[in-house]
Amino acid sequence: DAMYQVLAYYIFTEITDPHKEVKNHKQFFKDRDVSGRIYISEEGINGQMSGSLEEAKSYMEWLRSDLRFARVKFKIDESSENIFPRMSVKYREQLVALDEKASAQEGGEHVPPAKWKEMLESGEYLVLDVRNDYESAIGHFKGAITPPLKTFREFPEYAQKLSEEVDPEKTKVMMYCTGGIRCELYSALLKKRGFQDVYQLDGGVIQYGLEEGSAHWEGKLFVFDDRLAIPIDGKEAVPISSCSFCEASSDTYYNCANMDCNTLFLACPSCVEEERGCCCESCKEVPRLRPFDPKAGNKPFRKKHLLMQECGCGG
Ligand SMILES: [Zn+2]
Ligand SMILES: [Zn+2]
Repeated sequence: DAMYQVLAYYIFTEITDPHKEVKNHKQFFKDRDVSGRIYISEEGINGQMSGSLEEAKSYMEWLRSDLRFARVKFKIDESSENIFPRMSVKYREQLVALDEKASAQEGGEHVPPAKWKEMLESGEYLVLDVRNDYESAIGHFKGAITPPLKTFREFPEYAQKLSEEVDPEKTKVMMYCTGGIRCELYSALLKKRGFQDVYQLDGGVIQYGLEEGSAHWEGKLFVFDDRLAIPIDGKEAVPISSCSFCEASSDTYYNCANMDCNTLFLACPSCVEEERGCCCESCKEVPRLRPFDPKAGNKPFRKKHLLMQECGCGG
């Protein structure tokens, strides 16, 4: 039963004293039954959280009552539990980790989910998935291009390469990510490289799933919280990925039990037990191993969870 609401939101807006805003947030959340991960910087706020219907509502009202955040759009999903180990509100220099300056004001055109679906069906566009490889591996729009990048800090180079491979003046690009924030900046970078027709999915895959279900989508959506992977339409999703040991169908991620490795890897229940939670044979031999409890699945490592995430933007 969905007792909790899951909120995902961001807004680019000038915050002159982000540290003070971090304090305000912490003060607001004190003694409330909420969990989340919220980043605040000079350029805005990016958050994901869960709480009861009442708590979620009061937070949304509280945030919107501040003029700087009045236009914030919340993507609202449901869950049977709080999806983060605790509430964490932190200052971040950048909401999306990037080595090159980019401005959301120069980003691509926002496309609502219904229009996005029509555009996919037209076949006229290059569809670009700007999430990490471990995210796109378990689910993506059919036919999307997933840039082969180790980290998306390298996106500027990829954009440059793409502009040399295709004609940036004639190639229309549709870009998507989880909740939309990464596209805000990556689409601006693509435009800087000469691409003229750049579109970004408004509200990301989360909003698309809420409005259009899983049309043209396959697999699950990777999320940066305890759920790790969710079907985008709330129904069952057939895995498109497989166990890294035996090739059995699997979309369950684990962090390697070697504390100095922590690599995310896909495994089926029997292989992960046999490997004692390790990603490879050599990791099994090291002294600093977390004990692996097969019954606990991939949940207990929450503190070490998702160390591969580049910036934690979750967008
Ligand atoms: Zn297996
Ligand atoms: Zn490992």
